[in-house]
Amino acid sequence: MPYSEVTTPTMKTRSSLRLIPFTLIILLLTATSPLQAKTTAPLTVTFIDGGQGDSCWLHLPNGDDVLVDGGKPQAGPTVVAYLDEHGVTDIELMVATHGDSDHIGGLIDVLASMPVAEAWLDSQTCTTGTCQDFYQALADNGVVTSTVRMGESYTWGEVDALILNPSEPLYVDKNENSVILRVSYGSVDFLLTGDAETGAENRMLNSGHPLEAEILKVGHHGSSSSSSSDFLSAVSPEIAVISVGPNQYGHPTEQTLSWLQAVGAVIYRTDQHGTIVITTDGSTHSVSPSQEVTRTVFLPLVLKDYLTLPATATPSIPSRIISPKAVCSLK
Ligand SMILES: [Zn+2]
Repeated sequence: MPYSEVTTPTMKTRSSLRLIPFTLIILLLTATSPLQAKTTAPLTVTFIDGGQGDSCWLHLPNGDDVLVDGGKPQAGPTVVAYLDEHGVTDIELMVATHGDSDHIGGLIDVLASMPVAEAWLDSQTCTTGTCQDFYQALADNGVVTSTVRMGESYTWGEVDALILNPSEPLYVDKNENSVILRVSYGSVDFLLTGDAETGAENRMLNSGHPLEAEILKVGHHGSSSSSSSDFLSAVSPEIAVISVGPNQYGHPTEQTLSWLQAVGAVIYRTDQHGTIVITTDGSTHSVSPSQEVTRTVFLPLVLKDYLTLPATATPSIPSRIISPKAVCSLK
């Protein structure tokens, strides 16, 4: 109904005028209904807790599934079980950031458990037994493989993926050749950095490609060989996810943790928060860790002076519980 018909009633009776506000409400509801009806399918990015190592599952708004790394070989059953529990029956795209066993080991179990259409790799060669087993599993299952390089961009339905690493010439250190993805849905960006270190970070800084991201998967399990202050400033993450388990390397380092805090990032760690699910509709995002971390904060003792206590009461130290901002469930 045209707007003029609402604002210019032809019947000037009291009863018809009384109906106008009600009619306006109905029309306003009708006018806004197309927006309300346009529900935006979420992108869910799940950092699966498989101990020391990386595994990140992306469930795209169009229903496709992307798996970036699979943790150590021992993490394979955990990753497969998690995918099974969440209804994943096949993987459209598997990304092996690099050939270290804490990234590709678990992918071998995934390949044995469900069809995988395509795999992106940093290179087509590897030397370790685990890496060779992974490449053999790719071949045995007829997975189409390709290498990706900085500057390539892809569209996954409404989600865009920009490759930020590796670039030629490749480094000798395979960590530095990690496939790095910047995944964007609307105004929300994820930066998945594999085990890339400061060499790759400097290349990215000099590339001119966008690095800003609301969510950063922190490089190399929080090692101090990654996450330079310049890089973190450029990314400026609101949320930093560290995929880490018990390890002998000192991951994550105090330096990395303090620099992440210095750029204002809220830190989530798989060794403390368990599997971490981040959901976004393209404009907002929320974090749902499987475990809540509780920390007791002791107020300074001087505050005791401000507490009014009965003479016979036993003074107790006030405390409060801080829990991570929990949010929504996956599905
Ligand atoms: Zn690693």
